[in-house]
Amino acid sequence: MKLSSYLIATLKEAPSDAETNSHQLMVRAGMIRKIAAGVYNFLPTGLRVFRKVENIIREEMNRAGAIEVMMPFVTPADLWQKSGRWDVYGKELLRFKDRADRDFCLGPTHEEVVTDLVEREAKSYKNLPLTIYQIQPKFRDEIRPRYGVMRAREFTMKDAYSFDVNEELAEKSYLNMFNAYRNIFDRCGLTYKAVQADSGNIGGSFSHEFMVLAETGEDLVLSCDSCDFAANVETAPCNQVEPLEQSENLESLVEVETPNMTSVDEVAKFLGLKSDRIVKTLVLEADGQLIAVLIRGDHELSLTKLKKVLGVNFLELASEKVLKEANIVKGFCGPVDLNIPIYADYSIKPLKGFATGANKLNFHNINVCWESLNIQEIGSEKAMFSDLREAVDGDRCLSSDCSGILTSTRGIEVGHVFKLGTKYSESMNATFTDQDGKEKNYFMGCYGIGVGRVVAAAVEQNNDENGIRFPLALAPFQIVVISTDKKEGEALLKARELYDYLLNLGYDIAIDDRAESPGVKFKDAELIGIPFQLRIGPKSLAKGVIEFKDRLSGEVLELDQNNFEAIREKIDELL
Ligand code: ATP
Ligand code: MG
Repeated sequence: MKLSSYLIATLKEAPSDAETNSHQLMVRAGMIRKIAAGVYNFLPTGLRVFRKVENIIREEMNRAGAIEVMMPFVTPADLWQKSGRWDVYGKELLRFKDRADRDFCLGPTHEEVVTDLVEREAKSYKNLPLTIYQIQPKFRDEIRPRYGVMRAREFTMKDAYSFDVNEELAEKSYLNMFNAYRNIFDRCGLTYKAVQADSGNIGGSFSHEFMVLAETGEDLVLSCDSCDFAANVETAPCNQVEPLEQSENLESLVEVETPNMTSVDEVAKFLGLKSDRIVKTLVLEADGQLIAVLIRGDHELSLTKLKKVLGVNFLELASEKVLKEANIVKGFCGPVDLNIPIYADYSIKPLKGFATGANKLNFHNINVCWESLNIQEIGSEKAMFSDLREAVDGDRCLSSDCSGILTSTRGIEVGHVFKLGTKYSESMNATFTDQDGKEKNYFMGCYGIGVGRVVAAAVEQNNDENGIRFPLALAPFQIVVISTDKKEGEALLKARELYDYLLNLGYDIAIDDRAESPGVKFKDAELIGIPFQLRIGPKSLAKGVIEFKDRLSGEVLELDQNNFEAIREKIDELL
């Protein structure tokens, strides 16, 4: 590629809305441009990297025996109505009508479409197992698109779906994809972890996320220091209650004035209590019903866990308006005499005397005990206590026979594998004829990778003050020949000769033959993240050498400018 006739599009400054390194660098390196919130153009260098990730994914999917198809981006509502998700998928599903007033949506994921496809085409056990995949755009009307293509609204996903005759074989397909994912992320040169995860909106019984470890990751991953257990904080189980030091002599419940104090820290400080003796009462709307949740002051509620416990689709903190209508005092809410169902985290049960809001403006109750609470019945008492909090650093590992301690790291979810079981084949009544002649539901799995997110994660994990340090497999070009002479002269001729030589041998190479200063060319090469630079200018020409710079190691060498073979050998050594 001749950069003189290419669209380099590098920028000195990052846009003001770019919060993360990867977002800033991808815009500055001329890889992407925003055209609406969460909607991006991929420019030529960005697309080259994107295609490299896509090719790695395609090769590994094919190697694992998955078969490529392409399903439409626009999907008809009736499939979604059949599975029951038309009404439960929230605002992320972008719905619209065609000219004949028929409902459609932009596919955020393709379980419905693929189940319908397989149900029509693979009717016999003889067609199974079957894993099919596509690499295609998705649309999710994300509430907060951000970090560039990391959390976009329109993005490309590789989504694969497996179909098996029974659970055992479905597990084999799951493992096959799990291993293919390892190969993909290894080949992309990423540092990542496979962690246990929630199966969310997609459903199903079991799942793993592939997390690229990076400080700016939106997810928190907990991993054990002595076994290989690792889980997303949303799901990491924490149902063991550590004993607390507390006095057995209980004093009676009293109301204390706590003027304007609504945060745990303020209340704890004022009452002279540790934050683990303050109990937060969170009021939420769960499928239209108000409920309260008790969480220890030093813990955070896991909405994912609560959603599962309640078995609801919509769950969010109640708005000020809703609280007002229900006569609940914001900031001073507590469980004593609260007239809505209350759910509590396990860690509340052993607390002998704690402080909570008094359901009265500017007042808290102290010396509260579980037994003394007048709580509205919601079935058996046991059902009120559940594992509702997020795990934290220092929690004990819960995998069997392990007494390790969990520590947290931040991660970017680049891939997700789910065991779906018969969730979709049952709801959509999709069956095959088994060997015994009986109609049975397919056992399914689904497997996603965000292609653009992998690119962004690679940039997030590999950069320095000069720009992107792409791993070799993902760099937009692996080599750039730079003529440091602005003019058409001998240096440019030599550069072209070397470029043609390597290009003809099949190397992934560009030549920077623009009429720019050497400084601009070096800066761009570093910013874009091209691993190897071969520099030729009047000075090196006179010395009989070509300068070779390795972007990743920083090594600069002088190679004989007339021995192209040796230059090639040097590159091969590093590739
Ligand atoms: P997240 O929790 O980050 O919203 P998700 O769990 O909803 O993601 P999945 O449904 O598991 O995502 O989708 C599979 C893959 O698609 C993810 O692992 C991620 O790589 C990618 N992906 C999901 N949402 C986005 C997005 N908004 N922008 C870019 N890639 C995305
Ligand atoms: Mg996911």
